[in-house]
Amino acid sequence: MALSVNDRTVLLMAKMTKKQLNQFRTQLEAESRELLVMEDTLSAETVYWSQFSASDQRTRDPNEADHSVTERAILAKLADSNSSAANEVLRALGKITDGTYGVCDECGKNIPLPRLEVRPRATICVACS
Ligand SMILES: [Zn+2]
Repeated sequence: MALSVNDRTVLLMAKMTKKQLNQFRTQLEAESRELLVMEDTLSAETVYWSQFSASDQRTRDPNEADHSVTERAILAKLADSNSSAANEVLRALGKITDGTYGVCDECGKNIPLPRLEVRPRATICVACS
């Protein structure tokens, strides 16, 4: 099978085999699905905790109110890091498509494979992160 221009670029730039690349793509797609499920869970939880803030102040236990504020703050943080993780995954998948996967976004050097194996969505090397 002849290599397309993109495939050749990938092999040249990241010294990665097509098989490795497909493996990363599979991992990233799985991660993307997990993050979507997590996003649903987090927004359901947020809706749940929002009802406490919307309920009548007088009927509410003040401690419970504080609890709901804390919960929502935690949820907002989780949703935030979840969505930035989702963005990283999309960015990494985009890099696979355009043939720059495994190349640092900042310095243009190859990201070492062990780093990608631990964190397939990495788009910058350790030195630049
Ligand atoms: Zn770098």
